[in-house]
Amino acid sequence: MKLNSQQCDRASGVLLASAAGDALGAGYEFTYPAAQTPIEMIGGGPFHWEPGEWTDDTAMALAIAEVAATGGDIRRGAGLDAVAAQFVRWFDSKPKDIGNQTSAVLSARPAGAAAMQARARALTGRKAGNGSLMRTAPVALAYLDDEKGCLDAASAISSLTHDDPTAAQACQLWTHAIRHAVLHGTFDGVRGYLKVAAADVAEFWGPLLDQAENGTPADFSNNGWVVHALQTAWWAITSTDDSDDRHLPRALEAAVRAGGDTDTTAAIAGGLLGARWGASAVPAGWRRILHGWPGHTAPDLVRLAMETVRGGRDDDQATTSIRVVRGDITAVHADAIINAANSSLLGGGGVDGAIHRAGGPAVLDACKTLRATTLPDGLAVGAAVATTAGNLPAQWIIHTVGPRHSTTEDRTDLLRSAYTRSLTLADSLGARTVAFPLISAGAYGWPRHDAVNVAVDAVTTATTDVDVVTLVAYDDETATLIRRALTR
Ligand SMILES: [Mg+2]
Repeated sequence: MKLNSQQCDRASGVLLASAAGDALGAGYEFTYPAAQTPIEMIGGGPFHWEPGEWTDDTAMALAIAEVAATGGDIRRGAGLDAVAAQFVRWFDSKPKDIGNQTSAVLSARPAGAAAMQARARALTGRKAGNGSLMRTAPVALAYLDDEKGCLDAASAISSLTHDDPTAAQACQLWTHAIRHAVLHGTFDGVRGYLKVAAADVAEFWGPLLDQAENGTPADFSNNGWVVHALQTAWWAITSTDDSDDRHLPRALEAAVRAGGDTDTTAAIAGGLLGARWGASAVPAGWRRILHGWPGHTAPDLVRLAMETVRGGRDDDQATTSIRVVRGDITAVHADAIINAANSSLLGGGGVDGAIHRAGGPAVLDACKTLRATTLPDGLAVGAAVATTAGNLPAQWIIHTVGPRHSTTEDRTDLLRSAYTRSLTLADSLGARTVAFPLISAGAYGWPRHDAVNVAVDAVTTATTDVDVVTLVAYDDETATLIRRALTR
């Protein structure tokens, strides 16, 4: 389905924020952090995680997303079989941590969904662990255009390892809420589930949501149980300041502070928080160090989320997600970083100087080679050229030259061209994620407000295969201006 740029940002945030919660909580698993303990993405914990490393929660969510991204119907048949096979593939990677129930099912390496469900049914004892809820977020992305399909898929995938109606309902409730948050930007889908669920299901969950909103973590401290895990996540979301997008890190920290199965409760909360606030609300410091099975980092989570939304349909409605990040462009992970260069290509002040410093001598050498060969007169205003990214966390630098601002001549088209020709070049390189600074807004004197409007207009109307465009703002005020322009 076709999403607007806000919806794209929110869809992009689902896996990213869930993984961020997971990696944040990983270092505190089975503990109850004291009030003065800082909550940071430190790794460690009982399984000796690396800082920023996500755990089984995200790994299993990615196993689902990998299948949904190819367009399989994950409710039944070959699609559900493929999800089961991905679970076994992950199990075979010998993960450091795995829930008891999931382990009991997957250790038999059941071939196909029916065999896996049968194995789950045959387990005895308590069967309503939080292990199916923790991985349900990508299901929402796969069924944004189909409310009933979303509920059916949530329940079917839960049943692969968790033969319990409460676990299935929890997955339905949360997946329904994530879907609603991506589409509408509110948390109303949590209560909205009670309106679409059977009467007895609504009667069961309604008071539990009340308790989460009015209680404390001590009221639902057994959060290895799916019910208490959902309540802890909902408590974290509803008990923290939600006046701006810092709600996302605040609520994840609260989920971890609640203690117990911290990586899982924060992963669950993260799926919904990311759907509400978007990828742009995930702090850059977290995004930089996020990583985990199967060898993925933050840009992969964004790409996979968008591929899950598209469900294998490579249609003309392919969407470019636009997000806003405040910070240093040289620290942003993207396939291509755009440099606001000058025509000489030999470095300068502002962003240009910072990119050359961070990229190292390889970048300058590549630019000198261009000057000595194809660009003896330098790069024209509005044009773009690519080089290595040297030491930057990117594959390419795309150098483009914005126009100087003029009070006597309208140079808007040249400024637009700096953006659109950079994106065209990114397409030809195969770059799927691209980060732009605000071009011409520094020494070239473009009024910031105008520079923002041209940037947003150029990027939102461009025809490109790039999945994610990150607009990097150097201060809060610029970030706010860009966000405002994007909502117009
Ligand atoms: Mg875990």
